[in-house]
Amino acid sequence: MTKFNGDTADEFLEAAHKKYGGTGAGETTYTPPKVKTVFKDGKLSKVDFDPPKIDMDYAEAGVGKPDDNNKAAIKKIADMAEEHEKNHKASYEATFKTWSQKAEKDLTSKSYKDAKEAQKAIQDALDDFKKQMYDACVELHKKEGKIVAKTNKDGTVDVSMAPSGPAGCK
Ligand SMILES: [Zn+2]
Repeated sequence: MTKFNGDTADEFLEAAHKKYGGTGAGETTYTPPKVKTVFKDGKLSKVDFDPPKIDMDYAEAGVGKPDDNNKAAIKKIADMAEEHEKNHKASYEATFKTWSQKAEKDLTSKSYKDAKEAQKAIQDALDDFKKQMYDACVELHKKEGKIVAKTNKDGTVDVSMAPSGPAGCK
């Protein structure tokens, strides 16, 4: 979690946008999966991908003098940001699980002329993994990722989640 200061929901969001870029109020990153392999007689007899380490960061209320309406809105934004990053984490974990099972099966079923060719096949699979993780992020951002705060004439603040589009996915 990262604390952001603000007297209003808008200031809080603005501070978060500055750190995370675009319209985000958090970010979830992952390390490339490590792989253990055994190459023998033109075959990969063993391919084990370790799950990536997934790290979440999201905005949390810091210092400020918000009125009650903005205080409640900032809390709501922080809760939504956490929820959104948790959704990223879950989708990344599911993506890894499906991908690794198929990749391990594919890589061990093929024959290779040498270790170099086997290594290239592993690298191709890892490139495909990166692409699938990007797609998982874009898919989630079709539904959510952009937190919108709207201050009404009576001072109350409406907070809602909107699609953020592919920006912010790496
Ligand atoms: Zn997101």
